[in-house]
Amino acid sequence: MNKEFDVIILGAGAAGLMTALTAAKRQKRVLVLEKSNKEGKKILMSGGGKSNFTNLYVEAENFLSENPHFCKSALNRFTPDDFIRMVEEHQIDYEQKKHQQLFCINSSKDILNMLLSECADSGVEILTNADTKRVNKLTNEENKIYYEVVTHLDAKKLAKKASFQCDSLVIATGALSIPSLGGSGFGYELAKEFNLTLIPRRASLVPFMFSDEIKGLCEKLSGLSVMTRISTNGTNFLESMLFTHRGLSGPVILQISNYWNPGDEININLWPDNDLSEIFFNEKNNNPKTTIKKKLNSYLPKALVTELEDFYWPNEKNLTLAEISNERILKITNFLNNWTLKPAATEGYRTAEVTLGGVNTDLINSKTMETKEHPGLFFVGEVLDVTGHLGGYNFQWAWASGYSAGLVV
Ligand SMILES: Cc1cc2nc3c(=O)[nH]c(=O)nc-3n(C[C@H](O)[C@H](O)[C@H](O)COP(=O)(O)OP(=O)(O)OC[C@H]3O[C@@H](n4cnc5c(N)ncnc54)[C@H](O)[C@@H]3O)c2cc1C
Repeated sequence: MNKEFDVIILGAGAAGLMTALTAAKRQKRVLVLEKSNKEGKKILMSGGGKSNFTNLYVEAENFLSENPHFCKSALNRFTPDDFIRMVEEHQIDYEQKKHQQLFCINSSKDILNMLLSECADSGVEILTNADTKRVNKLTNEENKIYYEVVTHLDAKKLAKKASFQCDSLVIATGALSIPSLGGSGFGYELAKEFNLTLIPRRASLVPFMFSDEIKGLCEKLSGLSVMTRISTNGTNFLESMLFTHRGLSGPVILQISNYWNPGDEININLWPDNDLSEIFFNEKNNNPKTTIKKKLNSYLPKALVTELEDFYWPNEKNLTLAEISNERILKITNFLNNWTLKPAATEGYRTAEVTLGGVNTDLINSKTMETKEHPGLFFVGEVLDVTGHLGGYNFQWAWASGYSAGLVV
């Protein structure tokens, strides 16, 4: 096999494959080295097997980064429309779901097959079971910088060391979440070797766990879903919340986990966008014989109301509204509009969809993803300190950053 390439890409995930096909269409000789036995494992698992591959509404506000402006240039260069065009050219059936999220109708395999066939058609070579161990930056006789990549190739379980050379090296090794799907810290280690700094990382888009009595409550309600508005640190989301055996999950929890730091409280509004005290005082006037439970059952799942009342207002459980003091009504309704909980932890990288933080973008060119101090060395995708909201944003970042690098490598 040829050992010299214009471009070598580490990682055959979303960002790596997009970089590869974009560069190869420019007649570059491209090699992709993938550590695991298959390309695009996260693409296959995404969106519950249907891949939420982009979102019709993508703005810089949908991303978190120490430098909130960094993502703008790439997101403008390759937009959701550009990806949708590819999807349509490949005749992939897709549908728009809530919050402008686009999903495959059949399977996320369609997205991976599309990327792989574009790579194959433009001559990209891909090696799986290729675990890169070392990267060296070298200079040739004409003083030209090039990179040497030392990789262990598992050819029929016979691990062999091979070294490849390239003018441009693209790090698309993703992040730490879900090691079984390829999550790896390799990109961060390499960044440190090349004197790039890291923004602290933690698991995100991830469920919360509780260790106090709330864990028991969640366990009892496991499987139940309810629409809530949840806030922490000045940000809030309105979406459904799911009780689990360990704590809380569902889209609203995953979204807010991007903004939650260990030790923070979350505030859950169980009757969103309504002042419950006003609703209950009106009810007390108009229908004094009703109970808290009856009123709450008109909006919240019965099982939740039963558990909450045993937990938080057992003394008022069998009283009519007329028998409950206004002070207590105010207290209970305030609680329902602002249920304050302190998660013990998140479920961590085992189940997190993404890693928050990553390679500091200060030393990366936002138009090309090239490192400013090492010509020819690029970082794309989730390894960078750019994290999207839930809803197709993380893939759009992978496509856009990969495309931007692919145009210049
Ligand atoms: C279960 C799950 C569901 C998700 N669903 C969605 C969704 O519906 N929509 C959305 O927008 N986002 C979703 N995401 C997030 C999205 O998958 C990631 O943000 C995206 O895949 C990041 O792309 P990437 O190319 O940077 O990294 P990855 O896709 O993770 O690819 C990195 C690749 O690098 C390989 N690698 C690692 N180390 C090495 C090494 N040393 N040498 C060679 N290769 C290496 C890995 O095996 C992997 O194949 C989901 C994530 C998970 C875990």
